[in-house]
Amino acid sequence: MKNIIDKAIDKHNLTKEEIISILNDNSINEYLFQSANYVREKFVGNDVHLRGLIEFSNICKCSCKYCGLRKDNSILERFRLTPEEIIDFAQKASDYGYKTVVLQSGEDGFFKTEILVDIIKKIKSFNLAITLSIGEKTFEEYKAYKQAGADRYLLRIETTDKELYKQMHPNMSFENRVQCLKNLKELNYEVGSGCLVGLPNQTLDSLANDILFFKEIDADMIGIGPFIPNPNTPLHKANGGSFELALKVMALTRLLLPTINIPATTAMETLNPNGRIIALQSGANVVMPNVTEGDYRRKYEIYPGKICVNDTPAHCKDCISTKIQAIGRNISTDYGFHKKLC
Ligand code: SAH
Repeated sequence: MKNIIDKAIDKHNLTKEEIISILNDNSINEYLFQSANYVREKFVGNDVHLRGLIEFSNICKCSCKYCGLRKDNSILERFRLTPEEIIDFAQKASDYGYKTVVLQSGEDGFFKTEILVDIIKKIKSFNLAITLSIGEKTFEEYKAYKQAGADRYLLRIETTDKELYKQMHPNMSFENRVQCLKNLKELNYEVGSGCLVGLPNQTLDSLANDILFFKEIDADMIGIGPFIPNPNTPLHKANGGSFELALKVMALTRLLLPTINIPATTAMETLNPNGRIIALQSGANVVMPNVTEGDYRRKYEIYPGKICVNDTPAHCKDCISTKIQAIGRNISTDYGFHKKLC
């Protein structure tokens, strides 16, 4: 098994069968995590990029079975920030020293193209890089955001298992999601994708396909997190994903895509109190601290037990920075764009 990992360190390529064999064997986990850490240091160095996350609306027209923001969840208190509030949080993020803001929301029809374009332009004047994470849009909409100044876009494929995708996403299409990722690439965004680990009926075979898919689409960023069952969704009785398996999928992704940006996700920290630091030592090089203030954090309840819901943005910045420096890593002072190999 070590030979397979050594091959990945060297060639950044594995067959599906090899990936499955590693996912199946927990005796090599430590070697896998150390190897991903080694490849991370070799290709993207010791810098950790902080991206300030603004969760600006929890209103969503979709019904993804796993997600607390799904439109049929009548228990969730809904909120929508005004454009002025979003811009204000972005300004504050810049004042805290962040170089990127990530604007994330449910698929909220209120934010028409003109409104978003205006928000993006105003935030650009703070010299921030902008990442959008607002779901499936048309080519023209993505183009308008890009022209306004958006730099990156996060759209997880969630799972590449088409049957499972269909079960999890009523009235959505796998093909359209893939097309969105292609459109974003064509428009020269830095494209982020990723998957959930531990969905009901998800197999190691399909997780191996997910990892190969990330390579196939030439992703610039990949976010991987365990699925955490939300009591107010149809999957409330599901088991959920394990921290360890999510970490393995993430580590394998680092071995196969050595130069990309990989966040230590919040969902990892929800399952393990030191989850983000462990992820940073197993292949990750990005953290996305929340810069949304007040009660909005609690209301953006994708899954239960979300960390830091009662903390202020200033506290989050200090808390994560201290932890990152304690493991001998640096807080990056640049934008942290994906540097590909020549
Ligand atoms: N509307 C945007 C943002 C979705 S929320 C979009 O479509 O991209 C961001 C991510 O949260 C999702 O991509 C999903 O992978 C993750 N997520 C949703 N429900 C979850 C749950 N119950 N456990 C863990 N992660 C979840």
